[in-house]
Amino acid sequence: MSILVVGSVAYDTVETAREKRERQLGGSASYFAVAARGRGPVRCVGVVGADFRAEDLELLSRQGADTTGIVRTDGKSFHWSGRYHADMIERDTLATELGVFAEFQPEIPPAWRSSEYLFLANIHPALQLHVLDQMDGPQLVALDTMNLWIETTPEKLHEVLARVDILLVNDGEARQLTGLRSLARAAEAIARMGPKRVIIKKGEHGALYFGVDSVLAVPALILDDVVDPTGAGDSFAGGFMGALAAAGADRNSKEAVFRQAMLDGTATASFCPEGFSVEGLLAMTDESYARRLQALRGMMIP
Ligand code: AMP
Repeated sequence: MSILVVGSVAYDTVETAREKRERQLGGSASYFAVAARGRGPVRCVGVVGADFRAEDLELLSRQGADTTGIVRTDGKSFHWSGRYHADMIERDTLATELGVFAEFQPEIPPAWRSSEYLFLANIHPALQLHVLDQMDGPQLVALDTMNLWIETTPEKLHEVLARVDILLVNDGEARQLTGLRSLARAAEAIARMGPKRVIIKKGEHGALYFGVDSVLAVPALILDDVVDPTGAGDSFAGGFMGALAAAGADRNSKEAVFRQAMLDGTATASFCPEGFSVEGLLAMTDESYARRLQALRGMMIP
């Protein structure tokens, strides 16, 4: 079962109270691919500039990602820069330099169009539609988006929503998209827009799953140290989709499969903030992963 991700492959400059890291490997597709590793071939579609280090693509390949769909063109790689507040939750975006990403027209290699699982990471909804148009009936499609697209291109976003199975957003985005304060009502309204399953992420407070006649609240693991939370949302998506792919799930699968995948997403995402870039995720082993899952279950069941 193959997983296809289309999103940013980027350089991030991240500043925390303790440390600043310049131009480290980032981007939604990178985090997703490393998080989903070992759960099926992860095929990455994205674009990088001439400045992108070969070693960073090699790192993704070594984690089992197929990077042949990452096109290199003249120009600079997408660069995002952010500074975290002392609470390590709030952050200010200091710069978003699109570089070659501005002209990104995702082309899915013909052999990848039959991928069973598709994650449309946070890119312009018109590009997400362009990807969907090239696909050959994926078994499950999950979508991420952001406030920028909710504000600036709501029509295109609604067109994409009508064609996906799962939406992953944070609580602020769910409220902004629907104009509803209650997250339960917001999830119902989103389900009417298209995705029958809605995941609302609440950062260090965990995530809510609104499924088909089933609701689940999963707490976040309590971490000893938060080094860099960048990419935790995409890591959640990688763990979640990876679990669904490993289970061979489709849109008619039992709710239990999706509920279990929520735990996998949460356990996977918990490694991300423990290091800069994808370093926290790279430290995840079968053993440490199993311990996190067990700890998570212990937090939910007395
Ligand atoms: P998260 O912390 O889950 O919001 O993900 C942050 C990652 O998303 C960083 O690695 C950024 O490079 C990437 N990113 C930030 N803004 C955008 C954007 N507008 N489009 C695509 N990727 C972005």
